[in-house]
Amino acid sequence: MYDVVIIGAGPGGIYSAYELTKGDPSLKIAVFEAGHPLDKRHCPIDGDKIKSCIRCKSCAIMSGFGGAGAFSDGKYNITNDFGGTLYEYIGQKRSIQLMEYVDSINMANGGEGTKLYSTAGTDFTKICLQNNLRLLNASVRHLGTDINYIVLENLYSYLKERVDFFFDTPIESIELIKEASSSYYRAYHGDAHTDARQCIISVGRSGSKWMEEVCRNMNIPTKSNRVDIGVRVELPAVIFSELTDELYESKIVYRTEKFEDNVRTFCMNPHGIVVNENTNGIVTVNGHSYEDPAKWTDNTNFALLVAKHFSLPFKDSNGYGESIARLSNMLGGGVILQRFGDLVRGRRSNESRIEQCSTRPTLDATPGDLSLVLPKRILDGIIEMIYALDKIAKGTANEDTLLYGVEVKFYNMEVALDKNLETIYKGLYVIGDGSGVTHSLSHASASGVYVARRILEKAK
Ligand SMILES: Cc1cc2nc3c(=O)[nH]c(=O)nc-3n(C[C@H](O)[C@H](O)[C@H](O)COP(=O)(O)OP(=O)(O)OC[C@H]3O[C@@H](n4cnc5c(N)ncnc54)[C@H](O)[C@@H]3O)c2cc1C
Repeated sequence: MYDVVIIGAGPGGIYSAYELTKGDPSLKIAVFEAGHPLDKRHCPIDGDKIKSCIRCKSCAIMSGFGGAGAFSDGKYNITNDFGGTLYEYIGQKRSIQLMEYVDSINMANGGEGTKLYSTAGTDFTKICLQNNLRLLNASVRHLGTDINYIVLENLYSYLKERVDFFFDTPIESIELIKEASSSYYRAYHGDAHTDARQCIISVGRSGSKWMEEVCRNMNIPTKSNRVDIGVRVELPAVIFSELTDELYESKIVYRTEKFEDNVRTFCMNPHGIVVNENTNGIVTVNGHSYEDPAKWTDNTNFALLVAKHFSLPFKDSNGYGESIARLSNMLGGGVILQRFGDLVRGRRSNESRIEQCSTRPTLDATPGDLSLVLPKRILDGIIEMIYALDKIAKGTANEDTLLYGVEVKFYNMEVALDKNLETIYKGLYVIGDGSGVTHSLSHASASGVYVARRILEKAK
């Protein structure tokens, strides 16, 4: 019988385990992870023999110790303006305090010396407003993919002495066992099971389908969440350098004239690379960058996304996003690449047009036509925003700006949770992206610390 079983070793699971061990070293804790240990996580794409996603059973980018964040850009945004709605449960002040606490752990575990950028006092707030754009407030710690990995290695070295890890062991189902004097949770894996007094579920986006099943089986209420659909833009780093040198990542929102939709920048990677992402067999696009200048490219990439939320009669927002991603996979065999100049001219990009393009793509994607994939409303919004960004970063709307599609941010449906992030079952907590409450490294990590502290307080 464990005191706590944690399902998922992404940032949510890691920081809850960390905080529990710090608060009470005598606790018996087990962490179950569907993916591999950190040092066994390797995406087979080597750009040489394997150029695109081969749909591994367990995606090394999304699963394993470190979760979806392991090979991410390691951008810890300390803000309530985006990255999740944790503050709605725990309050604005506490949410920021916990994100700062997580930052201090990262600094103590290999992150020291990395830069903390901030929008406070920047002239870009005004420049954006003058051009019909809105810059969101945030401080962002950029660890970079390389330092992020080192922090994870250090956290693992600390945790493995104090916690029982079970890798390559997906939990299939959970059951509440009620006995005369007590109740506990039973987590089923393969032919075996593990029991614990309390259970923290932190399965991230890759566990979204599983989470839905658990909620269905245990009658835990859920709400449908939004899906974000768009493209990843790649252009010469120099075009965005004024913004990225000062702010590193700028979250900018534009309200389109035609449909009054919000289009926003997301996940900006100065001198970064564009990568494939495989969620439940669907290949979409993402990006990251390294802290080490030796690994920099000449390009900057970021996503332009439009949020869609369906409620009645259709409420499967993720299903809508999946269908669009599947369409791009069907036409392009994976991710589709198009020059902005070709898109506005209404023609597809082909091998020779990409060959002649002055911006060199950092991801090997299939040249094609995004207008055959993305709904008109979304595509029009993206084109409008590219022209709006061109006013603050001249050259964004150049013919040779590259667009990769589709980028989809799937959000898990929101699990009904109380202010302790506890479900209708006492001792069953859901945290991180799997709860639908968070969508970022910082919020997911903070939610882990928060629940750990609730458990420690209750035990007093
Ligand atoms: C390429 C990429 C770049 C990103 N860059 C950034 C960034 O710079 N900044 C930022 O804030 N966010 C970024 N993100 C998002 C960020 O990684 C996530 O928001 C964050 O990892 C969520 O943490 P989590 O612990 O909730 O879930 P996850 O990190 O998804 O971890 C969940 C873990 O649970 C495991 N799991 C799932 N189901 C089961 C099961 N049934 N049994 C056992 N284990 C299970 C999974 O294998 C996974 O390891 C990026 C994501 C990707 C993919």
